[in-house]
Amino acid sequence: MTLFAELGEKSKWSKHAFDPNVCNDSNTSNFVESFNSTLGVNRCRPILTLLEGIRRVCMVRIATRMKNAKSWNDEEITPKIVKLVKEIGKSSSKCRVFKSSPGEYEIHEGRSQFPLSLNKKVCSCGAWQLTGVPCRHAIRACIDAKLDPHDFVSSWYSVKTYKQAYSVCINPIPDTEQWPADESGRIIMPPKMKRGIGRPSRNRKREEGEEQPGKRSKNSEMQQMWLLWA
Ligand SMILES: [Zn+2]
Repeated sequence: MTLFAELGEKSKWSKHAFDPNVCNDSNTSNFVESFNSTLGVNRCRPILTLLEGIRRVCMVRIATRMKNAKSWNDEEITPKIVKLVKEIGKSSSKCRVFKSSPGEYEIHEGRSQFPLSLNKKVCSCGAWQLTGVPCRHAIRACIDAKLDPHDFVSSWYSVKTYKQAYSVCINPIPDTEQWPADESGRIIMPPKMKRGIGRPSRNRKREEGEEQPGKRSKNSEMQQMWLLWA
């Protein structure tokens, strides 16, 4: 309890307390891994080269997404979410639906039951509010009400919002030699650093018991050897 109390505001680390307006249930403690793998070799480079690397990754990413979205229909939701709704819908057949009034339902699933409102876009399981995508209970209610579940997805996932997010590109820029000189006369010196002994490590220190990267099991090593022999 002391440990959790020290973590601070629950809305920052516990899904149940996340802000529903954000419509994102991602909760990860190792985002640095994704960040590093996106940066690739750039992460070991000096700060200016590193920042340039990040700028270039973002520039290409925005351009790619802008191009992909061009053929999508503005009135629809993004293909990834359409796929997700289809996937969630598969498990909705296990739910039983009981209507209370137009748009108001009680959904039974195993021993649990959840009050659900299509009018307020709320299910007491919490998943719908948290993700912005109808949960299986909501999809079951939509089927009963003969309504399209896609109409109940948050506007954050609409093609219109997606296109808006990637509508502004990052401009290409020339190399540092071609940048205009700073005319203020300021000279910024590098910080004083004390160099440690030996070559600095490029890899993150992993915790005890954490899986080591690229460590192959004996079995897969044997398979590799078989492939070489075959
Ligand atoms: Zn639900």
